[in-house]
Parts: sequence; C-alpha cells; structure tokens
Amino acid sequence: MAFDRFGRKIHYLRISLTDHCNLRCIYCMPEEMTYRPPAEMMQDDEVLLLTRLFADLGFDKIRLTGGEPTVRAHIVDIVRGIAAIPGIRHVTLTTNGVLLSKLSKPLAAAGLERVNVSIDTLNPAKFKRLTRGGDIEDVWEGILAAEAAGLTPVKLNAVVVRGYNEEDVVDLARLTREHPWQVRFIEMMPFGGATDLQTGQMVSAKDMQGRIEQALGPLVPANGGQLDGEARIYRIPDAQGDIGFISSVSAPFCADCTRARLTPDGILRMCLLREYEIDLLTPLRAGASLEDLRKMVLEAIWNKPWGHGLADGEIPLNRVMSEIGG
Ligand code: SAM
Ligand code: SF4
Repeated sequence: MAFDRFGRKIHYLRISLTDHCNLRCIYCMPEEMTYRPPAEMMQDDEVLLLTRLFADLGFDKIRLTGGEPTVRAHIVDIVRGIAAIPGIRHVTLTTNGVLLSKLSKPLAAAGLERVNVSIDTLNPAKFKRLTRGGDIEDVWEGILAAEAAGLTPVKLNAVVVRGYNEEDVVDLARLTREHPWQVRFIEMMPFGGATDLQTGQMVSAKDMQGRIEQALGPLVPANGGQLDGEARIYRIPDAQGDIGFISSVSAPFCADCTRARLTPDGILRMCLLREYEIDLLTPLRAGASLEDLRKMVLEAIWNKPWGHGLADGEIPLNRVMSEIGG
C-alpha cells in the first residue's frame, strides 16, 4: 500500500498513452499544437513494466487516457496486458469516442471494464466548433457501440465553456431520462499555454446545476450524498441515469484524491494542477533497477501535493491537459 504524508492511500493510476489526438478541443490544446515524436513516449513494454511496478505497490485501478488513447497503436494489446497484471482490478478508458464504433468490442474482449466518453454538446455545429472540426455522429455511434459491447455504465463528460455550450447542459442532462448513463459536467480548468478562455470563460458547477434545474426541475441527490470519484451525483426524478458535477475549480475534492498520473513520456505527476513531476522513463532507459524505480515512486507519492493552488492564482504552466491526461 502506498500512502502520502497526509494519510491518503494512493491506488489509482491514470496513464496517458499519447499526447496525440484526432480532435483539438479549444479548452484542451492550442490550435497549433505539435506532438511528441513516438520515440520519446513510453513504448508498450515500458507501459506494462511501469504498470506492474505500480500494481506491486497496491495500485488496483488504471484509467487509460491521453491525448486520445484510441489513436495509440496496439491499444487493444495494451489493455489486455494491463488487465492481466495481478492486482489490477479495474481498467477503464477516457476517450473522445470517435473510434469507439470499431474498437468497443475488441477493447471489451481485452478486459476493458467501461468507458468515459467526452461530448460537450448534442449540437453538431457547436461540437465542430468546440473540437475544431469533429463530427458528432462518430461520437454518438461510438457511445452506442460501447454500450452494446457492455462497457457500462457509460459515463459522458462535458466540459462547459461560457459562450460555447453553457446552454447545452440541459439537452445533455435530459439524455439521462432515457439512457442509464451518467452525464458529468466538468468545470474548465486552466493550464498555461493552452488558451486564455480557460480562465475567463469557466462556468461553475453551481451555474450549470441552476440552468438544468430551471429547465427540468429540482435534481435529487443520488449515491447517498457520496462523491462518485470526483463527481457529486444527482438524478432527475424517475430518470434512468445520473447527472454528475465535477467542481475541480470552485469546490476541489483534493482531500479525497487517490490518484497519480503517468504522462506519455513516462513522467509521474502527483497532482493534475501542480507542476511537481518525477521522471521515471529516463532512469528506466538508463538501466535503473526496479528497486530504484520503486523507491522513486514511493518518495513521489509521499510528497504528493496536498491540493492545487488555483484559488491563489497558481496555474500549472509546464504542460497542457492533453500532455498530462485528464
Ligand atoms: N481524448 C480523451 C477525451 O477527450 O476524453 C481523453 C483525454 S482528455 C484530456 C480527458 C478529459 O479531460 C476529457 O473529458 C476532456 O474534456 C477533459 N479536459 C480537457 N481539457 C480540460 C480543461 N481545460 N478543463 C477540464 N477538463 C478538461
Ligand atoms: Fe483531444 Fe480529448 Fe483534448 Fe479533446 S479533450 S483535444 S479529444 S485530448
């Protein structure tokens, strides 16, 4: 078991498999984003070796993310390899859904438990604008394919941006009436270098909930008032699915954080919104022993920052979201 100095048990690893993406969402990366060469990124065997190391330290939950994890070559084999590691009990994926119509079945067969699919609006023109060119039909087909393949419960993620999609929260929330999905609304977080709109156009979870309740009536707290991951969960009465709010900016959940993150270039990042990082890939390639790496990981976990510093104006500048993995 790995604990930090605040007594938090850290057992959930988010692995970003690539910084590449087939979309360019306005809140995630700059328009002229350039990607890392493949040689700088963890190779398949390195991903598996590091995951085994974390599993030996008591990590039992892995989320694959990116960039867009489904554009990574051998994604199905990577999932299969991770799911077979002793101690790993949950393997999940966060994806933009574009490639899910063809990948859902093989991913499910390889041991993937479920997916979170990002979809910020149901309006095709707005979707194109938010993703700088994406086709919402691809995502919709992907969501249905994921459900058919048993990658359930499907969770949908929507980042809400003032001036782009704040009115669309109502249509997205309404989906839960007919579908057993969890639709989660996410406050936009700022990362230096991505774009200025992250600070100026953030919509608070309170504002989102107000808009939904004004249109659909009062939401009922669900999940016994407990957080589901980082989301506060509600329900439209008689709906099949849930609605979640992720208020990372206005009401952080740092006290309950159990996470570490591995970037595509093999760097361990202990807080999404702090620049504190420990390079694991360079020592691994230089011949460090597993015992050396294990010590580095335990020390990094021990020194996990208490929480982010957004309230004090501290914005991480060294990477944008797609280079860390959400
Ligand atoms: N490409 C995949 C996707 O879009 O789901 C996985 C990677 S993406 C970086 C992971 C999640 O981070 C997505 O739900 C995305 O909407 C969210 N995200 C990206 N930039 C964000 C930001 N500035 N603030 C909050 N969430 C953000
Ligand atoms: Fe790509 Fe996901 Fe970032 Fe959108 S949020 S640009 S889909 S990595």
